[in-house]
Amino acid sequence: MKKLLLITLSIILFGSSFAQEKGIINNANSPNVKLKSINMGDCVWTDGFWAERFDVCEHHMVPYMGKLLCGDVGHALNNFKIAAGEMKGQHKGMRWHDGDFYKFMEAKTYVYAQNKDPKLLKELDEYIRIIGKAQEEDGYLQTQIQLNPKVDRYENRKYHEMYNTGHLLTSACVHYRITGKRNFLDIAIKHANLLYTLFMPEDKKYARFGFNQTQIMGLVELYRTVGDERYLKLAQKFVDNRGKYKVEETPATEGYPIGDMVQEFTPLRESSEAVGHAVLAQYYYAGAADVYAETGETAIVDALDRLWENITDQKMYVTGATGQTHYGASTNRQMIEEGFIDSYMMPNMTAYNETCANICNAMFSKRLLDIHGESKYADIMELVEFNSGLSGIGLEGEDYYYANPLRVINGTRDYKKLVTEFPERQPYLECFCCPPNLVRTVAKLSGWAYSKSENGIAVNLYGGNELKTTLLDGSKLELAQVTNYPWEGDVNITIQKCKKDAFDMLFRIPRWAKGTSIKVNGETTTTEVKEGQFASINRKWRKGDVITIDMPMEITMVEGNTRIEEVRNQVAIKRGPIVYCIESADLPEGTKITDVYLSSANEMKAVYKKDLLDGVTVIETEVLIRTNNNDETMYKTVKKPEFTKFKTQLVPNYAWSNRGQGEMTVFLPIIWK
Ligand SMILES: [Zn+2]
Repeated sequence: MKKLLLITLSIILFGSSFAQEKGIINNANSPNVKLKSINMGDCVWTDGFWAERFDVCEHHMVPYMGKLLCGDVGHALNNFKIAAGEMKGQHKGMRWHDGDFYKFMEAKTYVYAQNKDPKLLKELDEYIRIIGKAQEEDGYLQTQIQLNPKVDRYENRKYHEMYNTGHLLTSACVHYRITGKRNFLDIAIKHANLLYTLFMPEDKKYARFGFNQTQIMGLVELYRTVGDERYLKLAQKFVDNRGKYKVEETPATEGYPIGDMVQEFTPLRESSEAVGHAVLAQYYYAGAADVYAETGETAIVDALDRLWENITDQKMYVTGATGQTHYGASTNRQMIEEGFIDSYMMPNMTAYNETCANICNAMFSKRLLDIHGESKYADIMELVEFNSGLSGIGLEGEDYYYANPLRVINGTRDYKKLVTEFPERQPYLECFCCPPNLVRTVAKLSGWAYSKSENGIAVNLYGGNELKTTLLDGSKLELAQVTNYPWEGDVNITIQKCKKDAFDMLFRIPRWAKGTSIKVNGETTTTEVKEGQFASINRKWRKGDVITIDMPMEITMVEGNTRIEEVRNQVAIKRGPIVYCIESADLPEGTKITDVYLSSANEMKAVYKKDLLDGVTVIETEVLIRTNNNDETMYKTVKKPEFTKFKTQLVPNYAWSNRGQGEMTVFLPIIWK
């Protein structure tokens, strides 16, 4: 009897815990997390904006990227084949190319979770076979080193071994969770065990080695997947090592900026300001958030809260983009690249805003959403997804931007001298970190749409979808969400299956959505509905209940803090979560974007155009175009400006540059009438 009870208990326990283990982030058993991930595949986009983007992802973004990376253009799979002895040749691509291939595999795995196409699984299996063969006996796996006889393992951190490792571990964990197959996971475990033996002992040689620290996220995820505490301890060690050692040039740091650039000047627990490379910083903060989720150390989460506030209140663009400059200095006067500079210093034209950095902002925010359970973090995720994330890829899903400036003016930048900035999206980027990062984000976004709360479900993102999930108490919940968001603000959610007992439904009311109302079966709810918070309704829900959320989609003019000099007397146009811009395609030929002004007296009207840019709501208005500003001298005596009127439209910023090369601006000077 006792034995039977034990077996039954273990089935219940194993059954319920396994059911929670297919999240993008598997925080099912993380003790310091308020909101838990749904399983990948529980939510599927059915209709509308994200369903269309996912369709492009499934049919264009992922297959096209596969052709690039598995062929000779991208050469990423070739690198593994050469290391595996199945092909002759040399390593090609950046030192972090392996990591970017793992990200592509991750994207493919998310697509598989939603469409269950066995062909994808077979292709993944073939990559894994080659990668496994490329892996050395002791677990080492870095083709950029293995194929370079001049360099030794872990000799210099600029070779990005940690970055590749992080993406290997994350991708392998996701693959195991979604497919149940161990082939990729076993490679990751073997690799992580080697990492543990080298980096866990107190060894000065390796002490400052961790930078571009995706390995922290990867190690925590591996700990969550297999339960081996060594991986969590090693992740913690990588956090603790930053800022612990004297910042000085060593053979291991040659060739890449040190100090603030790689967040090794100030220990995390003492940090209040986001510094350095924006991608490195936010991957690091996201990894530290994963460590906190498991350990609960207050000093870490307090620091992360300060850093998040610093980023989103003082260093973030209106599009959710981060990393103001390509080259610059930190406030500690240390050289930085592709990253954060002073607060409120927000250039538009030279804004760097690497697609990866914007996505990292969303990844960091997602982790704080889970930890704190507050909707403001999901607001930032959404801001990035609809704006500075999506602007990194063309509508057809086959060309890419690395940098995402807020203003582009012809003839002002020498693109030949710039490595990662282009006047138009490119079909291939030699530095290929951003494309698979964005594609995996689009592929997994349905997994971010909902979270499980202690006794219910939280709606984080809106979009037509169906959710079939299991709540934390093991009860089944099925919902259907119907909406034309973000073009319209009404959302209908129908309960298709739920438990008999009362439970919570949390609805994110975005900070911009002033005056939102929620009705249940047509009746206004007594629940407090406040923008910037989750509205929580607890009741005995029944099959067929319909929740209607009505978010007013006002066209708003957004001005910057007075300390942002670059946008004084200018406004950006926003409607719901979408940030707009004006571009050459909608202006008379030869118009300089800097001559275009808005007038507060002119009406702005939202119009949905199904045949434009794959279907967008534009803002129609009459702009003023200055006609007497042709003097290009640096300073000149001002004359009274003269304007002509022109009826036109503003388009969503994410969809810019899909109608030929031209100029664009998000912020426009305004004439107040
Ligand atoms: Zn990137």
